[in-house]
Amino acid sequence: MQVMQGKQCIQSLKAYQPGKPIEEVKREYGLSHVVKLASNENPYGCSPDVWALLALERGNLHLYPEGTAPLLLEQLSLYHQIATDQLVLGNGSDEIVHFLARAYLEPGVSSVMADFTFPRYEAVSMIAGANVRKVPLKEGVHDLAAFSAAITGDTRIVWLCNPNNPTGTMFTHDELVCFLDHIPAHILVVVDEAYAEYVVHVDYPRTVSLLAKYTQLVILRTFSKIFGLAALRVGYGIANPLVIEQLNRVREPFNINRLAQRAAVAALADTTFTEQCGRRNRDLLERFTLKLQEYNLPYFPSQTNFLLFSTGACDQELFSFMLARGIIVRPGSALGYPGYVRLTIGNAEEMQYFQECFSLFLEEKSG
Ligand SMILES: *Cc1c(COP(=O)(O)O)cnc(C)c1O
Repeated sequence: MQVMQGKQCIQSLKAYQPGKPIEEVKREYGLSHVVKLASNENPYGCSPDVWALLALERGNLHLYPEGTAPLLLEQLSLYHQIATDQLVLGNGSDEIVHFLARAYLEPGVSSVMADFTFPRYEAVSMIAGANVRKVPLKEGVHDLAAFSAAITGDTRIVWLCNPNNPTGTMFTHDELVCFLDHIPAHILVVVDEAYAEYVVHVDYPRTVSLLAKYTQLVILRTFSKIFGLAALRVGYGIANPLVIEQLNRVREPFNINRLAQRAAVAALADTTFTEQCGRRNRDLLERFTLKLQEYNLPYFPSQTNFLLFSTGACDQELFSFMLARGIIVRPGSALGYPGYVRLTIGNAEEMQYFQECFSLFLEEKSG
């Protein structure tokens, strides 16, 4: 049978392999309780205020949402002290990554990213037919000097993930400023800050404050992580109004649905909830890293709600071991780190259970 093939530039692209969904593991293993520590979701759910606002949409689901999401834009502009024309909303920040590629990448140009980082930057570049240049991480951290060196005449976008997924590491404000000082204004510098609200490091870049000086800067944020709204798909970009205007040209008219617009407004306002999530995360993350030190297992210092660490064994083996016990983790070999695992920091109970199973695993390996 003759079936028409897609574009040449997507032939080496593979469909995204997400962390295994809880429902699938329950079915496959006949388990009633499954813990997912694989996709960096918030183990505490979302703000309880979200539900009250969602109820306002009862009876409205047959109506298109407001295409520009004015309430959400206004709240975000107050939150970041910026103008609404510096903001673009996406169906997840993933979608804004797509907008950037749609608006700025094409065959004959290149985009530059870390090896290893969030895989969507590479995917969207390939879909646009652009070349991809990768810059190795230095001890798990973006090597910004090497990034400067990798930029050539055809470069249109530089993707920086800070803190980086999957390593959880970050570069500082001064490092970013020094980098930006060396980048020509026609090259976009995209800083993906999906985990910004988890960061405790005092020198984390104050990126919004740099927008006035560096017109090529694009900041990405999301409601999928600390705000706990991954299911509803809302992310946003902050940039120069002229860049935002380009992105809006390639945006679908109703990309943020009614429920998502309401939920995001409520989630943004509940700072008590997000601060509590941040504190609990930090506490459990630090406790777990102490355990790893006891086990003498290397890890990358994390500013996020996940941790990439060495299992001291084959990561697929650990993955299967955990799956059989109802825990889903992300094996490092899928992320460029064979032998490692990327673990989302769960709640206290989940971390306790993971630790028990992990001790068991290590005993079996050494025994
Ligand atoms: C989770 C994550 C996102 C968020 O994606 P959404 O589409 O907003 O859910 C973006 N970038 C990185 C690096 C992430 O880890």
